[in-house]
Amino acid sequence: MDHYRSLNSFLKEQFGEKVYKLAFDGGFTCPTRDGSKDTRGCIFCSGGSGDFAVPVGDDFGEAMEMAKAVVSDKGAKKFIAYFQSYTGTYAPLERLRSLYTQAIRHPDVAALSIATRPDCLGEDVLDLLSMLNSIKPVWTELGLQTIHPSTAAYIRRGYDLPVYDEAVRRLRERDITTVVHMIIGLPGETPEMIRQTAQHIGESGVEGIKLQLLHVLRGTDLERDYLAGKFSTLSLDEYINVLEMCIESLPPDMVIHRLTGDGAKRDLIAPLWSADKKTVLNAINNAFERDNVMQGSRL
Ligand code: SF4
Repeated sequence: MDHYRSLNSFLKEQFGEKVYKLAFDGGFTCPTRDGSKDTRGCIFCSGGSGDFAVPVGDDFGEAMEMAKAVVSDKGAKKFIAYFQSYTGTYAPLERLRSLYTQAIRHPDVAALSIATRPDCLGEDVLDLLSMLNSIKPVWTELGLQTIHPSTAAYIRRGYDLPVYDEAVRRLRERDITTVVHMIIGLPGETPEMIRQTAQHIGESGVEGIKLQLLHVLRGTDLERDYLAGKFSTLSLDEYINVLEMCIESLPPDMVIHRLTGDGAKRDLIAPLWSADKKTVLNAINNAFERDNVMQGSRL
């Protein structure tokens, strides 16, 4: 029995063959880093999750060959070009147009996935995404993390919840698939507050979600607060309990892109149990079986 709608099953339905995600770094920054809103970045962020991303200059084809070479043993022929690092729509429009048009027209690219922020989706950017979406599927990934204002201020997210709601409305108007990131275990949040974030994301009508455990990473301001004893991280059992509540609060047709997180192990300060991804995923799957978890059962 499937306890939730996984990304793998969705990819098989959508593309009918194995597709592999390739991460790229378009050389972007963020409004919370370049001084427009802040210079410090989000409190947990060690650099836009782009540790394994291939840098792309003017020639996407060249970067694609490099990225494909790394996964040549996986047997995939089609790929999702994932612009993962920093804010993928925060650059001059002509740079975005050139980069993403090359990417989506590449014969081996099945879909384009762009990680960005709800406050970096102006009308011109949405029009560009819409045009690209008419060529091949475009997925927009939004980092919401929480719906709670006090936590959003603490993590220095830099925009308010209505900005997210409005961005999702406009993306839906244009039929652009949206995947939202939320973090489980942010300081000061109770399990019920976390579940409310999942529920809001479900109700906002987006197609996918990435549920991520809060990682404390070396060199971040979050590490400073953690080492000062201002909060503690979740145990594996606590994480699984909250994760189950979230899954049960999400619409049954929403695609679950991630159940944990993919922090760079060398920089992981806490929780250290999360470094063993295989054991964590086994524990989650066993608990879902034991507890008979069903996506959407709380709705
Ligand atoms: S989490 Fe995202 S928006 Fe925040 S600083 Fe990092 S890359 Fe930028």
